Amino acid sequence: MMKASEPIYVTRPFLPPLEEFNEYLEQIWESKKLTNKGPYHELFEKKLAEYLNVKYISLFSNGTLALISALQALRITGEVITTPFSFVATTHALNWNGIKPVFCDVDPATYNLDPKKIEAAITPRTTAILPVHVYGNPCDVTAIQEIAGTYGLKVIYDACHAFGVTLDGNSILNFGDLSVLSFHATKVFTTFEGGAIICHDETTKKRIDFLKNFGFAGETTVVAPGINAKMNEFQAALGVLQLKYVGQCIQKRKDIVTLYRHNLRDVPGITYLEDIPLVGHNYAHFPILIDKDIFDKSRDDVYNALKNRNIFTRRYFYPLISQFPTYRGLESANSNNLPVAEDITQKVLCLPIYPDLDLDIALNIVKEIKIN
Ligand SMILES: *Cc1c(COP(=O)(O)O)cnc(C)c1O
Repeated sequence: MMKASEPIYVTRPFLPPLEEFNEYLEQIWESKKLTNKGPYHELFEKKLAEYLNVKYISLFSNGTLALISALQALRITGEVITTPFSFVATTHALNWNGIKPVFCDVDPATYNLDPKKIEAAITPRTTAILPVHVYGNPCDVTAIQEIAGTYGLKVIYDACHAFGVTLDGNSILNFGDLSVLSFHATKVFTTFEGGAIICHDETTKKRIDFLKNFGFAGETTVVAPGINAKMNEFQAALGVLQLKYVGQCIQKRKDIVTLYRHNLRDVPGITYLEDIPLVGHNYAHFPILIDKDIFDKSRDDVYNALKNRNIFTRRYFYPLISQFPTYRGLESANSNNLPVAEDITQKVLCLPIYPDLDLDIALNIVKEIKIN
């Protein structure tokens, strides 16, 4: 294959027609309401809850502040069990709350926290589990809930990859005590930056809304050492408009996944995840695992070869969070504790996927991988 003339990145954000967004901007310019529960904030919160089929949503300026605030909202302390196979913000959110992360290995079938290994990581200081629906594939929510129930732990899902994902027709965001979304530019649904916490009762939503606005519960009342994590009107207006298009975007992602799977099937040394029965997927990423012993070339060989062709895949998630200098000193960061995650992180490569990725380009990417 020739070098692609334009660089192809692992993702590219979908944006609605600018003319359509201009109308929203004119409204903002006219109202002069820029933030603090403006009209678009209220509209987006309502429409998003409807779209996702969840009861209560609090909008945030980004996913990381939503994660940090979710832990604050439930007063999580001590130790929290989490996955090393995620974006680093998952663990950072614990650190910012003075909580000790305890890494637990993942399931080779889903790359998500392995419920069979959670119990061994529980200590008297454990207060919660922070799993991630990695690549938008649901965790074993039933098994996790059972453990949480038995040991009296809270469950906060980092659902930053899982926008719109359903399990047997029910939103995946309805599981656990809280779920956190991100609307960062690289996610399935974007408001440039943005995020949300999903909860299941009005009192909790109220507390979350206090926390994201400095703890204000009224003009002169502060009920918590809150932070500024509010979503502004620009983000919220874009969110309202993006909801019109996200269904089509997910369909287009699915077409690309179908093509990748079809053309990578039966390639010795390359494996990928299939759709899971009863799950409505969002096709956020397309990770493949490359086994050097069988495929002959390593993951990094393929990554570099594609890079030389102007195709920029990403090694999500390499290194593991537990391998970063900030965290590798933790006892639970020891490789012996995380054999499955350590194996996957060496093999994984995420191929380009976004709504307007040309199917011919996707096909060429596969060909390029195969001739390697
Ligand atoms: C993107 C992401 C975050 C952080 O979200 P931001 O909106 O970028 O702050 C956290 N966790 C996971 C798993 C993510 O992918």
